Amino acid sequence: MQIKTKGIVLKVQDYNENDKLLAVLTEDRGVIYAYASGARRMKSALSTVSSQLCYGEFVFFKNRDKYTVDSAESERLFFGIRKDLDSLAYASYFCELCLSAANPEEEAKDILRLLLNTLHMLENKKVHPAMLKAIFEFRLMSLIGYAPDLIACSECGEFEKAAYWFDTQSGSAVCTDCRPNGANGEVLLSKAAFLGARHIVYAPMEQLFSFRIGENSLIELSVAAEKYAVTQMDKVFPTLEFLNSIRTF
Ligand SMILES: [Zn+2]
Repeated sequence: MQIKTKGIVLKVQDYNENDKLLAVLTEDRGVIYAYASGARRMKSALSTVSSQLCYGEFVFFKNRDKYTVDSAESERLFFGIRKDLDSLAYASYFCELCLSAANPEEEAKDILRLLLNTLHMLENKKVHPAMLKAIFEFRLMSLIGYAPDLIACSECGEFEKAAYWFDTQSGSAVCTDCRPNGANGEVLLSKAAFLGARHIVYAPMEQLFSFRIGENSLIELSVAAEKYAVTQMDKVFPTLEFLNSIRTF
């Protein structure tokens, strides 16, 4: 059976002397693991599309549970990210998060769109990558059913207090008037960071990247988003460990 769908390559492994194994996030079927025959040879028609971050239209052949790439046409290769070590480290982490978040054989249009938009912003360097990372983490968690509850304080219901404790396990928040001291697993968010997180979770996709916050608030937002994603996914991400070992903030 042939399957034609748009997708982006999240991960590439050398499978044997000639072939590669690709993990492709697709619109129609979530993450597909597919063999690209001959892709390790320079002259192969699949060599360009068998690289991480290649986005395009893929034609897969499915035989029982095994997929192979029949053909593919690249539309975007994100060279600006590939040639920059920092950007590539961010992108690789976004890819690894998607690998864990998208279910096989399930439609993943929204996840794919979020990833493509984030990579686009990462490539054109107009927004701080730490901001993009926080946006990606909170929004991705929301898309897969782990949206935090950032409307208001869960105790008094006030939605514009000076600061909140954000619980990275339950995803709820309590203002510092209701509870002066945070508990284990909670991080402090100033009002600006709290409103930023709220924007990320609830804004329409077209407005997702259109907000700015100061550096201190961004640091808080960044800590909260990362802890939240890692706690919700309950996983260690080697690409995140690498990213955190090289990034300055
Ligand atoms: Zn309160």
